[in-house]
This record gives sequence, structure tokens and C-alpha cells, in this order.
Amino acid sequence: MIEADADETQRRAVIAGCRELSRLALSHGTSGNVSVRRDARSFFVSPTGRLYESLEPQDVPLVSLEGLWHGRCRPSSEWRFHRDIFAARPDAGAIVHAHPRFATALACTGRGIPAFHYMVAVAGGADIRCAPYHTFGSQALSEAALAALRDRRACLLAHHGLIAVGADLDGALRLAGEVENLAAQYCAALAIGAVELLDASEMTRVLEKFRTYGRQDAVDPDLRHGGERLPPQ
Ligand code: 13P
Ligand code: ZN
Repeated sequence: MIEADADETQRRAVIAGCRELSRLALSHGTSGNVSVRRDARSFFVSPTGRLYESLEPQDVPLVSLEGLWHGRCRPSSEWRFHRDIFAARPDAGAIVHAHPRFATALACTGRGIPAFHYMVAVAGGADIRCAPYHTFGSQALSEAALAALRDRRACLLAHHGLIAVGADLDGALRLAGEVENLAAQYCAALAIGAVELLDASEMTRVLEKFRTYGRQDAVDPDLRHGGERLPPQ
């Protein structure tokens, strides 16, 4: 009973994630898909070809790493890259795939996102790669995506869209939004003219700062805590 509750919660999370893709304008219609890891051997993934508004928890299938699926609706046509990412990356708890406007436009030029802005580090490295084009749903696409995701949490897919990987669904969705924002900024910069890139040593510094960015225990040698109570004026 407790396991069934947990499964229902995860299926609802997949649906909420899909609807969030629409709300954030990261995907249109039935494009994109969302998955959450159930355990070491299986994951829930959005069903193929379904409009997100009409989904019910029982429509969200379970897929094993062996390619066996359970449920009343067939899994996303991209189940292969969801499976291969979960298999290769034990840290992955959720995966979001979408076709947002600017990331996709950039990927249609075959370009990834270089270190034009320090926030590129949000995906785990000094750039966000673009995997070469392969037909949607193919094993070749999955292998190209996995290679582009090496040491990264996100990549673009040529002539297709993006993939974002998170420890949980919130993280994967947030990262997808960040990548789309970076892609929009990079497209705007390219439209103005020659774009200057940050060098490798600066990106190494940024990546190091990102390890503690936003945390209460972030190290700053010039900043001391004077207590929670404010001093008198
Ligand atoms: P599905 O509806 O099968 O998930 O496909 C959408 C998609 O984006 C394929 O790349
Ligand atoms: Zn797609």
C-alpha cells in the first residue's frame, strides 16, 4: 500500500512536470517528455503523444532498464535516452526533454552554448554541448545525447531541443529553464555581433564557486556573520 502511494505520487509528479513545461513555455503540444527514477532498475516516464492537460496518474507508464514497460499507455518515444541516462548516471533522479524556442533555434545551427556567460557553469562545465542530429527516438540519438552529457547535466540536440538532468524533477525543470534563458541570451548576443568568451581559467574559478553558491556555508574570507539579531542603528 505504501509502495502504491509512492508510485502514485511519482506518476503525479511526472504529470505536474509536463504541465510545468507548458506553463513555462518550454514545450508546445505533445513535444517534450519528463521522467523520474523509481529505483535502480526502473523509471516513470510521460506517455507518448498525449496532451499534458488530459493526463491521469494511470496514464504514466513504468519502464525498466531492460526495456519492459508496464501500464495502460505506451511510454515516450524517447524512452531510450531516458533509460540510458538513468543507467549511466546513478545521480540522475529526473530527466526533462523539451523543444524550447531559443535552445532549439541554436541547436538548428548545430551550435551548443560556449562560455559567453558565466552561468553556463550551471550545467556542470565550461560549455553546454550540442549532440549531432539523429532521428527522434533512435538509439543513435540516445548515444549522441549521452556523449554530449559527459560531465554535464544538460545538452542541446541538433535540429531538436534540449535535455536537462536533475537530482530531482524540480532541479531538472529549473535547469531546463536556465539553459533556455542562456540560449536566448546567446542568440541575442550573436545577433549584435562578435561574442567574447570567458577563458578556461575563469570558468574553472566559476565552477569552483558554484560548488558552494547559494549555500549558508559558502566560504567568503571577507565576510563575517555578526549574529541573527540586527545591531542598533
Ligand atoms: P513523445 O510524445 O513520444 O514523448 O515525443 C515527444 C518528443 O519530443 C520526441 O522527441
Ligand atoms: Zn523531442
